[in-house]
Amino acid sequence: MAETKLNVKLLSKTDNACEIIYAACRQCYSSDFAGNIFEKSIESREKTAEFIKKVVASGHESPLEHVKFTFAIEGVSRALTHQLVRHRIASYSQQSQRYVKESEFDYIIPPVFKNDTAINSRFVSMMQKIQEGYNDLLKMLKEKGIEGEKANQDARFVLPQAVETKIVVTMNSRELKHFFAHRCCARAQWEIRILANKMLDICKKELPEVFETSGAKCEELKFCPEGEKFSCRKYPTVR
Ligand SMILES: Cc1cc2nc3c(=O)[nH]c(=O)nc-3n(C[C@H](O)[C@H](O)[C@H](O)COP(=O)(O)OP(=O)(O)OC[C@H]3O[C@@H](n4cnc5c(N)ncnc54)[C@H](O)[C@@H]3O)c2cc1C
Repeated sequence: MAETKLNVKLLSKTDNACEIIYAACRQCYSSDFAGNIFEKSIESREKTAEFIKKVVASGHESPLEHVKFTFAIEGVSRALTHQLVRHRIASYSQQSQRYVKESEFDYIIPPVFKNDTAINSRFVSMMQKIQEGYNDLLKMLKEKGIEGEKANQDARFVLPQAVETKIVVTMNSRELKHFFAHRCCARAQWEIRILANKMLDICKKELPEVFETSGAKCEELKFCPEGEKFSCRKYPTVR
């Protein structure tokens, strides 16, 4: 049992992303075939990039759906992934607690706990007790002849939300922008905010034409829609 660190790795991104978005956009207004528009756009990359920036700024977002990113994520809590999977326009594959035994589970420690010795040691001792309880349950189930995934699937009922997990997520660019708008916001929970910002950094590097103005919703709106009570006050609030 140990504490773990959040790690995000980009597994793949749609090839020729700019050209695909460009061809999809242009197809809406052109009698030409998107296949030809795509080929021509490869020859004029700078023009294509400028066009995409304008499209993004105008809010014409459906062409962004043709470009997908796949991330591998580890070192995050089940509390985080429970929030992540609420974003429905995505694909997920998560480490199973039925097929992967948690007999030495890693866990995430909230920074506020880490910075206070008393709280931290209370938390760590709780994690140890849960681990002992989980292992005891597996042992007791084994004595009844219940083992493997059948035992794991019930013993996991005692596991905490702090348990470390691994997940693969695929989102299209439009959904990613929506995800960043909500989860890079100071109002979002700290762990998913760290994840969202790491994913945003990767997207900005990989596809600046689409993501350079992305981030918390206030970054595009230039005001905070969260209201006085919840605003971080980076931008003025609106009632
Ligand atoms: C700060 C914060 C606090 C939160 N607190 C809570 C909480 O206390 N309790 C709670 O349950 N959740 C909470 N959530 C989760 C939130 O309610 C959403 O479930 C989550 O952010 C997923 O976002 P989404 O529904 O906009 O979009 P996604 O699933 O990412 O979908 C993107 C967009 O597609 C459209 N869409 C998708 N599915 C449908 C559909 N079925 N019908 C119509 N339109 C659709 C919508 O326009 C949606 O915005 C919180 C989220 C944040 C950021």
